[in-house]
Amino acid sequence: MLAAHLGLTGARVAVTDLDGDVLADRFVDVDVARGPDALLHLLHATFEELSAEAATGPVVGVGVGTPSTFELKAYARGHGLSAAGWDRDHFRDALAQRFRVPVLLDLDVAMLALAEHRASWPDAEVLVCVKLGTLIDAAVVVRGVPIRGADGLAGELGHIKVVDADDPCVCGSIGCLDAVASGSALVRQMATAGRPVDHVSQIIQLANDGDQDAVHLIRRSGRRIGEVLSSVVNLLNPAGISLWGYLTEAESLLAGIRESLYQTALPGSSEHLRLAPTSLGDLAGVRGAALSVTDTVLEPRAVERAVLTGSWSA
Ligand SMILES: [Zn+2]
Repeated sequence: MLAAHLGLTGARVAVTDLDGDVLADRFVDVDVARGPDALLHLLHATFEELSAEAATGPVVGVGVGTPSTFELKAYARGHGLSAAGWDRDHFRDALAQRFRVPVLLDLDVAMLALAEHRASWPDAEVLVCVKLGTLIDAAVVVRGVPIRGADGLAGELGHIKVVDADDPCVCGSIGCLDAVASGSALVRQMATAGRPVDHVSQIIQLANDGDQDAVHLIRRSGRRIGEVLSSVVNLLNPAGISLWGYLTEAESLLAGIRESLYQTALPGSSEHLRLAPTSLGDLAGVRGAALSVTDTVLEPRAVERAVLTGSWSA
């Protein structure tokens, strides 16, 4: 399998076996300002280098996890870029043409959640996976399958309203969790506090070094995330909440989430709830991308078609 987890500034690219175990991988810097075709070219080249490195047999599928449309739009707006050409169909077609195998593009958070469920929560009937980065996003896995919703918009945790907030959000609304608790919100809040930084990772570093402004803002962010998650817990009674993304590297964030989540959620629902950072680290996205493809490529009808035609092509 060829697998990639595309972020807005970098991508993890890998070759895996059919179990999603990574045989070779590399992190490459992404510059979305150069446009979609430059990114495709980079992906093609990196896939080919890694295939040579891993010295595997034929490729049977390509899986790519991408940010949501909200994330892409927000990033484009923030950096004065055009969102044109960033079309999933264009990406899928270009990759299928190049490698002549089935190609699956999906939301990165759904792929992360799938990998996390298989690796650490195989018995969980309901698992919630939350991505806490520049923006906030989530996926809900029910009996091993990430759910999509009627319009593919299930899991938009970042756009649930929080109490006493009226900050404008990238979705066009006000008072969303994303607008008050995400990495980009933290960067804005530090600037307002007279402590401008370029990237949220600097705030996390400051907080972990004991800077009181940073600790206070991150903890408040955690409390707001916990407040929203308590409704999710009451509704779904998940076995666990798995947390992914660079905000989880701040100790004060987890403390803030626990503080409000266990205070607000129904005691019976949260009593056995496990709240844990991802167990798969940086490779969660590519593992999930590979597993998503395996599920599709090795689906009984696809195997039958491959046997009859002698080819894995879709
Ligand atoms: Zn919103």
